[in-house]
Amino acid sequence: MSNLAVVESQKLHQETSTRRTQRPQDYQQISLYKDVNPLDWEDWHWQLKHRIRSKEELSQIVRLTPEEEEGMKKASGRLSLAITPYWATLIDPQEPACPLRRQAVPVISESIIGPHEMADPCAEDRDSPAPHLVHRYPDRVLLLATEHCAMYCRHCTRRRLVGEHEVSNSPSRFDAAIDYIKSNRKVRDVLISGGDPFVLEDEEIEGLIQKIRSISHVEFLRLGTRVPVTLPQRITPELVSMLKKYSPIWISIHFNHPKEITKRCKIACDMLSDAGIPLGSQTVLLKGINDRPFIMKKLMHDLLQIRVRPYYIYQCDPVKGTQHFRTPVAVGINIIEKLRGHTSGYAVPTYVIDGPGGGGKIPIGPNYILSQAKGKYVLRNYKGKIYTYLE
Ligand SMILES: *Cc1c(COP(=O)(O)O)cnc(C)c1O
Ligand code: SF4
Repeated sequence: MSNLAVVESQKLHQETSTRRTQRPQDYQQISLYKDVNPLDWEDWHWQLKHRIRSKEELSQIVRLTPEEEEGMKKASGRLSLAITPYWATLIDPQEPACPLRRQAVPVISESIIGPHEMADPCAEDRDSPAPHLVHRYPDRVLLLATEHCAMYCRHCTRRRLVGEHEVSNSPSRFDAAIDYIKSNRKVRDVLISGGDPFVLEDEEIEGLIQKIRSISHVEFLRLGTRVPVTLPQRITPELVSMLKKYSPIWISIHFNHPKEITKRCKIACDMLSDAGIPLGSQTVLLKGINDRPFIMKKLMHDLLQIRVRPYYIYQCDPVKGTQHFRTPVAVGINIIEKLRGHTSGYAVPTYVIDGPGGGGKIPIGPNYILSQAKGKYVLRNYKGKIYTYLE
């Protein structure tokens, strides 16, 4: 546990201004946590160990609706209920529509399977040449480093895999995946994701990074995570200095709502950025959570403020039990329409649909080409004004 992080967090808890959150983030104001030592609160292992895992615990913090109570009974399948105390303090206890609450607390709608929903919509299991590895694009692979996360998102695309079940943690479990990458010289980019790779211990992450770094044809290495948002305490000075040794490493962080960008989250992102790690964001378009253009715009602006470059907005994949989160595609296109040209280009991510059945990410957006003939393009700009470009 670093002293720096404790000092920072105490400073944070003393601050009364809560510009971004409606509720104070002072966990000591929540009766369940009022006696927790700040050192424990800042300890990511403590946070993981004290995650909310049951209806009884959750009802001490949140006034549960019948929808949620039923949802929790049915959430006994793979995708577990797990909420870090940190995230719990951001939830509005009185408001079932709270965007942070809806991402974490199961509801009865999860047991409804929509007409086009699948267990594995992106056909990752089919495109898996070795355990824990997905190879879809010729030059890059996805390595699923763990099946665990700090918090389980109710909209998770990999809900068929992730959850709090026992998994073999033998260091040899990636041998076949590493051998596959070694023998495939076209793979120049490895994305370590999961689950969340940062729920593993530093040594395990380092072991994996070392193995990948030792493959000479792999030039680009990145990690996908949500811990800066769900468990910012995990970004310790030790972790950051370990990652720094293997520079360049890029990190993509899953952010869905401006309220997730707290001062504590900013500290975690700053530590990574200060170590020279470029940060990008990935956002899932979620009905009632971030499907209004002004919320998405605020999220993108707030991300730039903490040095995170918006990377992707995903159409919510047709995973079983996520119908209540899915918006029409037109909603996503309209969000891009309201961003492009109206704000900094850096604040505009690419909206993609992961082609069901394994098509990969397909960019979707407003159409700016009105007509196209030999040597002539008729275009419109963000204001709808028409321009002709002659080749
Ligand atoms: C998203 C993804 C990647 C990485 O795609 P980029 O567009 O390069 O970020 C690689 N493999 C799989 C299977 C993916 O789903
Ligand atoms: S952090 Fe990612 S992998 Fe984990 S539950 Fe959320 S969406 Fe799924």
